[in-house]
Amino acid sequence: EAKQKGRNIFQLYTPELSTQAQQRLVLEHSLYKALERQEFSLHYQPQFCLTSQKIVGMEALIRWHSEEHGWISPAQFIPLAEETGLINGIGDWVLETACQNIKKWQGLNSIIVPIAVNLSARQFQKNDLVKTILNLLNKLSISPRLLELEITESIAMQDVQHTVSVLRNLQKLGIKIAMDDFGTGYSSLAALKYFPLDKLKIDQSFVRDLTVDSQDEAIVKSIIALGHGLNLTVVAEGVETKAQLDWLESMGCDLAQGYFISRPLAESDARAVMG
Ligand code: C2E
Ligand code: MG
Ligand code: MG
Ligand code: MG
Repeated sequence: EAKQKGRNIFQLYTPELSTQAQQRLVLEHSLYKALERQEFSLHYQPQFCLTSQKIVGMEALIRWHSEEHGWISPAQFIPLAEETGLINGIGDWVLETACQNIKKWQGLNSIIVPIAVNLSARQFQKNDLVKTILNLLNKLSISPRLLELEITESIAMQDVQHTVSVLRNLQKLGIKIAMDDFGTGYSSLAALKYFPLDKLKIDQSFVRDLTVDSQDEAIVKSIIALGHGLNLTVVAEGVETKAQLDWLESMGCDLAQGYFISRPLAESDARAVMG
């Protein structure tokens, strides 16, 4: 027993493993346990309409409180989950939990706004994604109009034909599609023309220095024009100041999301915001 234990420790801390690799291994082990330990939760960040001045949507964002490591950011564990395949279970959990929340909110007679769920690359490549979502909507009898899905350019560009067909099928169900982190990936304008989308989300890296950096302003103006030219709703991510919000409003941006409006909220607070 002691020998066994010693051997495991030796394996974990062998000098050939870099500190980074060690940390990764330790984190991976905890991540493997996280679902059954029920360590995940969803927070919801409001999306604010610059014309109606109302909250018109929410983005579901996963949170992980690990028994061993405390709070770990999704920017850290989602890529790891993606590499290890653990994302399949986690992705299903996120979809199911978001939909169950929609149902719960519906039952409480809240004014419900659509909830956006982030999809990972693997999730999007799975052949049964559309079927899984359809089954979920049917099982919980919630309207597809209350679900929105977010993909990134890199996910969309992996297999353009597959992307076009999956997005079409999802849209046929009545689900809205948003292109997340727009401007940071490498999707060509030509490809953008073929993707059936509803929303373009301007990456927060361009929003951060609005009203300070004229180059970022030029980029954001162009994305707003591009989005509107393609008949898409344009959302600015990472809005942290009143000045940014005012600038975006004056440029005709449709929606804003960011700490200035609201941080991502726990479920009960999110419901209160919806009314
Ligand atoms: P994202 O989808 O682009 O989500 C927006 C991120 O920006 C969130 O970080 C949010 O908390 C953060 N944010 C919102 N407003 C502001 C602001 O005003 N300033 C700044 N600096 N940040 C702001 P979060 O929650 O840490 O998530 C990071 C990324 O992890 C997400 O980026 C998304 O790519 C991924 N992610 C989160 N939840 C899920 C999930 O359920 N499934 C998948 N596949 N990926 C997820
Ligand atoms: Mg997102
Ligand atoms: Mg984003
Ligand atoms: Mg992001």
